Amino acid sequence: MIKGVARNLLDYLAPQLCIYCDQPSHRLERICEVCEDALTVNDAPCPRCALPGMGGRLCPHCLKEDPALTSVTAAFVYDAAIAYLMHRWKYLGEANMSLTAAKIINNTGITLKNCDILFATPLHWRRRLRRGFNQSEDLLEALWALQHSPGRARPSGVALKRQKITKAQAHASRRERLGNLQGAFAVEGNVSGCSVGIVDDVCTTGATGNAMATALLQAGASEVHLFCLARTPSR
Ligand SMILES: [Zn+2]
Ligand SMILES: [Zn+2]
Repeated sequence: MIKGVARNLLDYLAPQLCIYCDQPSHRLERICEVCEDALTVNDAPCPRCALPGMGGRLCPHCLKEDPALTSVTAAFVYDAAIAYLMHRWKYLGEANMSLTAAKIINNTGITLKNCDILFATPLHWRRRLRRGFNQSEDLLEALWALQHSPGRARPSGVALKRQKITKAQAHASRRERLGNLQGAFAVEGNVSGCSVGIVDDVCTTGATGNAMATALLQAGASEVHLFCLARTPSR
């Protein structure tokens, strides 16, 4: 009851407006329940790369080429609604967007619990400095806070680092993407025999995820799973 009173008071003092309908969301998230229900959940995608619309079967690409990533889990299909959310989050840097993204992922039932070690997709330090934050790091922190008991620390002494700035992947050809990403990531510390989870905002082609997975597998990880908010519908 106290929680309810506190929330009503907070709602009164500083209502969170839904980014889609501009009405008070009546919760800390920046999306109201009605607009959350209207998002396109990524139902029955390819089990390896989360490509939407595959009826739960492997997509032609994963059938042809075994990807380095053990699995990709994406809560939503990347469409205009998710693109708008990403714009408010990543480029306008609005408050509570990491929490919002974490809550709507959590509400689809996705869980990070089975991984031994969790990383966020790293940004090169120069890019991070320019943007002021790494949205994937914030998303991992928010998901961690939602899904784990308070006070339990994430394993320390291990790190996934971005060694070079890579160009935007969306418009590059496959060959360019792979060339761009060669040696882009380095693993520090012992990941030997570990099941590793990586949290990212959007999975576009899987090229970045597979480059991280390759570095982690070479460092001894037994499997690498990618978790993200959304997956683009085509390669
Ligand atoms: Zn709304
Ligand atoms: Zn696939």
